[in-house]
Amino acid sequence: MKSDKLFQQSRKHFPGGVNSPVRAFRAVGGSPRFIAKAKGQYLWDTDGKKYLDFCQSWGPMILGHAHPKVTKAITDQAQKGTSYGAPTENESRLAALIKEAFPSIQKMRFTSSGTEAAMSAIRVARGFTKRKKILKCDGCYHGHSDSLLVKAGSGGATFGVPDSAGVPEDLAKLTITIPYNNIEALERVFKKEGKNIAVFALEPIPANMGVVLPNPGYLERARAITKQYGTLLMFDEVITGFRIAFGGAQEHFGIKPDLTCLGKIVGGGLPIGVFGGRNDVMSKISPEGPVYQAGTLSGNPLATAAGIATLTELKQKDFYKKLNTKALEFFAMLDDLFEQGNYPVTLNRIGSMFTIFCTPNRVTDYQSAKTASPECYAQFFRSLLTKGIYFAPSQFEANFISQAMTLNDLKTALSVFRNL
Ligand SMILES: *Cc1c(COP(=O)(O)O)cnc(C)c1O
Repeated sequence: MKSDKLFQQSRKHFPGGVNSPVRAFRAVGGSPRFIAKAKGQYLWDTDGKKYLDFCQSWGPMILGHAHPKVTKAITDQAQKGTSYGAPTENESRLAALIKEAFPSIQKMRFTSSGTEAAMSAIRVARGFTKRKKILKCDGCYHGHSDSLLVKAGSGGATFGVPDSAGVPEDLAKLTITIPYNNIEALERVFKKEGKNIAVFALEPIPANMGVVLPNPGYLERARAITKQYGTLLMFDEVITGFRIAFGGAQEHFGIKPDLTCLGKIVGGGLPIGVFGGRNDVMSKISPEGPVYQAGTLSGNPLATAAGIATLTELKQKDFYKKLNTKALEFFAMLDDLFEQGNYPVTLNRIGSMFTIFCTPNRVTDYQSAKTASPECYAQFFRSLLTKGIYFAPSQFEANFISQAMTLNDLKTALSVFRNL
């Protein structure tokens, strides 16, 4: 296969042959497919094999690949130049669309990735509160900046141990982690450390340990307790923003964080990140305030053009109703299939995103997610791939349904599942 040859070649250039680790297929075995092109709901690899794509570049492609309006916006802009290092009108246009969706964002900054957005949000939170410690949830991902690459040890609230070599322990110590969905742990950590915590950062609906839903009352408690202790609440909606609803998880659950991070969909498939929130917090950023933050390509004209075109489509009446109804039908069929076959799996889902965990247990946090069998998922993934269905190459990720997928596509996928 051409993909195998290309992989051998790319291994000479990149660690593991890739520019982002999960792409290497280590969690599922085999070698990654090299993608030659994509259109609508499909990917084609370099051997010409076609796949129904549930990975969607890890979330951005909610309209499907190479959507005509997004492609046109990008090519039109490219004719006029691709980067100026100076302000443009389109940045404000995109910002206005973002504010329509997220009323909690009074002011924002554009970056080139979700990692940068989360990293910068943490910095401004520390600068605003003049506190050093940050709190995050075990199994929540906020990009790969030093302070955020930390998860909990066993049980309860623990001071962070870095997840990666190269992150100094002295820094990781400032990151406290607690299990998601656990109100007791949340209250315990605030009682002990609340006055020292600058920000509680979380994915309101975690999607980087696989999709996990908040228990009723959890996000409400997070909002109330952070307010009580003068800690900022940051929702990382890099995946959920414009996915669950136009206004993301905060619209869906009716909770207003102090800071929000966006990425993925908001750039329509081009590199972008956004962080924003309360005016008094965001005005601490340079040149208005003392918190430094910058980017040569931030607010990039191609990315803002793709973002505007994408959000304009998403704003169409009933966009989410149609997408989520289609997803619901698919999930109902999957539920039936799993029940009939008595499969030991758990399907977590919300809106148009889902994870199939290879475990009969309810998955409500990182601990329970880890009870899922990696071997079983690897086998499932490889069988799907052979049959032209491209799932996320790890169990602990979200899969997505796009506007481009038809109910027929989903039924085809289902018959593949049935015959695995
Ligand atoms: C993808 C992701 C990020 C990081 O974004 P990058 O653009 O990959 O740097 C941050 N937070 C969440 C929740 C994500 O899913």
